[in-house]
Amino acid sequence: MYDEIRSGSNGTKTWNVDGMGKPAAIAACQSAADVSAAVAFCARHCHPHGVRTCVAGGRHSHQCMANGSFVIDLSGLKGITVNEEEGHVDVMGGSLQGDIDEATEAYGLATTAGHVASTGCGGLIVQGGHGYLERKFGMVIDNLLQVEMVVADGGIVVADEEQNTDLFWAIRGGGGNFGVVVRFRIRLHPVPGKIYAGQRIHAPLGAGSWFPDRATLVRAFSRVTAESEDDNATGLLVMPCGGPVIENLVYIGPMEDGEQYFAKHKNEVGYPLLDNMKGRSYHLDVQRFAPAGGGNFYMAGVLVPKMSDRLAEALGHCVTSANGPGRKTNCLVFVLPMGGAVSRKMPEDTAYPHRTSLLWVLIQGEWIGDPGTPEYEERRARVVAWCGMVKENITPFSIGHYGVLSEVDTHGNAGENVKDEKERTSAENAVNDGGAVGNRDTNAGFCAMTLGGKRNVYGPNLPRLRGIKKRYDPDNLFNVNDNILPE
Ligand SMILES: Cc1cc2nc3c(=O)[nH]c(=O)nc-3n(C[C@H](O)[C@H](O)[C@H](O)COP(=O)(O)OP(=O)(O)OC[C@H]3O[C@@H](n4cnc5c(N)ncnc54)[C@H](O)[C@@H]3O)c2cc1C
Repeated sequence: MYDEIRSGSNGTKTWNVDGMGKPAAIAACQSAADVSAAVAFCARHCHPHGVRTCVAGGRHSHQCMANGSFVIDLSGLKGITVNEEEGHVDVMGGSLQGDIDEATEAYGLATTAGHVASTGCGGLIVQGGHGYLERKFGMVIDNLLQVEMVVADGGIVVADEEQNTDLFWAIRGGGGNFGVVVRFRIRLHPVPGKIYAGQRIHAPLGAGSWFPDRATLVRAFSRVTAESEDDNATGLLVMPCGGPVIENLVYIGPMEDGEQYFAKHKNEVGYPLLDNMKGRSYHLDVQRFAPAGGGNFYMAGVLVPKMSDRLAEALGHCVTSANGPGRKTNCLVFVLPMGGAVSRKMPEDTAYPHRTSLLWVLIQGEWIGDPGTPEYEERRARVVAWCGMVKENITPFSIGHYGVLSEVDTHGNAGENVKDEKERTSAENAVNDGGAVGNRDTNAGFCAMTLGGKRNVYGPNLPRLRGIKKRYDPDNLFNVNDNILPE
């Protein structure tokens, strides 16, 4: 079973090999009843003896296969049902983001889904769910109509705006703390058959040349994004060590409008060397821009309210050759746009609090090698250090964190290293409690942060989340996550 999961022969490829620990047992669930039985087993036989419960959806995180844990694996719980008349889609808990795109394409409908097709719907949605459509239609949770889930006592409950409303609020951003979702119901929206999208590649030479440097490109991109209409879903990829800066341009609207829009703004960010813009299918091309890939990955990320000059400079500094992660690694920083419909919700409308953030800065590192070899460990250490360095440099400008990236763990040992709230230091918890990491631009409550425990995922919503956790998971069975203590 473990080898099948690792190799992907059971239908869900393990995207991040580095996230695979050695669990004690795996329950291969194919139905809500299977999940219910597995959860009840964990509550009775594992949790009281210190064996942690993990939930594995798309297996993109470092928290789904902890060493020595009992894993509730959802690879066998896939399925998508489109209801065209009602304008919604039912998504089984183990489905992948790409499954939604494939099923909805024929109807000319779509809903916000992650940027990488192989990411699991389960982990992505309960954390909030960012994607190309968010500025226009909101995050995935803003389109969530209902969930069916297994809670800590093994019971199966339905939550929506009419029943179990507290749980429905909590599951929209509260992560895997409240149970295992076996079915999501999500609103659909019409999306044109072809939209205008592609990449523009910049050579960030700077130093008096015709081509601006990285910081200038990042600043210009952020200014254009902040002022742009909701249809513009463009992000920026910044490669370290002399690599290019790539605008990933996507316009969610009629193709001609997109063509005009990007032509009008063409040189506002810089002077691209290459441009492959054209009409493309949102579902089958744009949602597949990121390679399906698979390998050894480490990720960190912060949410920032604006790209100030100082932040752009800090970011530019991190990606110079002198500060690079070194050979046999492949690292980059994505600057992804938020705002639009995301910011038209209030922080307390759902459990996801970071509505005023305008950019999600995602730091991704990859390395080659076979786990367990000295080369692997050495490259991994360089990548983790690089991700940490970038994160430390930009965190002072941030207002918080998105949950479930690699940073709450080390090397496949989530069960040993993910701290629950009690295990964190009081300073770490204060960051979670206060909801404000501090913003160097405004000098408000600056707090230097390092990679690891200090994370502001829930902001001011933490007290309410704790109360709901107490009601649905009083013994903290689901604790391999950005954990919320039941209080
Ligand atoms: C390459 C990559 C790209 C990403 N892109 C995006 C993006 O575009 N937008 C975005 O919002 N995020 C993105 N993320 C972050 C992503 O949302 C999280 O890593 C998420 O946890 C992945 O979900 P998963 O099911 O694949 O992960 P898993 O590792 O399988 O699960 C992670 C955690 O999610 C919870 N979980 C999983 N399934 C369920 C379920 N059915 N019910 C309840 N809890 C569950 C559990 O707590 C579990 O420990 C990306 C991550 C990676 C690695």
